[in-house]
Amino acid sequence: MQALAERVGAWLVGATFEGYDPLGFTGLKTVEPPPEALVGASIVGVDRRAKYVTLHFDNGLRVMFHLSQAGRLDFETPPKRTRPKGSVVRWRFSDDRAVLLREFGTERKAGWWVLAPGDEGPVEKLGPEATSDEFAQWFRTADDGRRIHTILRDQRTVAGVGRGYADDILHRARLSPYASLKSLKLDERERMLAALQEVLAEGLDRERLRTGGLSQNKLGEHFTVHGKNGLPCPVCGHDLKRVSYESHEVVYCPTCQTGGKVLADRRLSRLVK
Ligand SMILES: [Zn+2]
Repeated sequence: MQALAERVGAWLVGATFEGYDPLGFTGLKTVEPPPEALVGASIVGVDRRAKYVTLHFDNGLRVMFHLSQAGRLDFETPPKRTRPKGSVVRWRFSDDRAVLLREFGTERKAGWWVLAPGDEGPVEKLGPEATSDEFAQWFRTADDGRRIHTILRDQRTVAGVGRGYADDILHRARLSPYASLKSLKLDERERMLAALQEVLAEGLDRERLRTGGLSQNKLGEHFTVHGKNGLPCPVCGHDLKRVSYESHEVVYCPTCQTGGKVLADRRLSRLVK
């Protein structure tokens, strides 16, 4: 999302908002101020917080949007009049530019917010950014009994990691996804923080090489272990394993991360019965 925010900024800073076309399902999550209040205002900056991208306008209003798992942005010049599958909204800007927000998933979580000054909207309850000193300080001393993998996925504890990077970070740090934070020694905590910085920085470098508006759809192929159950671990060569849940899976290397122990996969044990 950081790389996407940079591309949106390069494309739209200085552009004046001319109007919008609501398409498909109701993606607009706010009532006040109305999107009409943006007409005539210019974008002065674009940034990111967790998985939300914010467009800052010169009249103090902001537009925030979230792409969810299967969302994407299309940059259009000139603006199209089509309504492709999954369309949420098309924002029209000066100089024949438009941005189309789309959602391919069935969950329909992509959305956008128009926010008045001081209103943090959906990011109000988010934890500190993953790469911030604030999170590092907390992580070094916290007595949290939850598993590290759970902590990394919890946006209220730490913003901007997600399940894919959580797998890769713990693999890099050689830590079990099931270890509780409370149980970690100081050197293990430092290893996790260093791995987090490295993995996220490498992910951002890769994303910056991309062009256009596409966000997350093809990110999977860039992960080190996430989504690669059954393939050889890139470090030791042994097979990667997974633990499956309803909505996601955790991939890890038993040799590198759990001292050779294979964690119980509930879905697998159901199948074997
Ligand atoms: Zn390994």
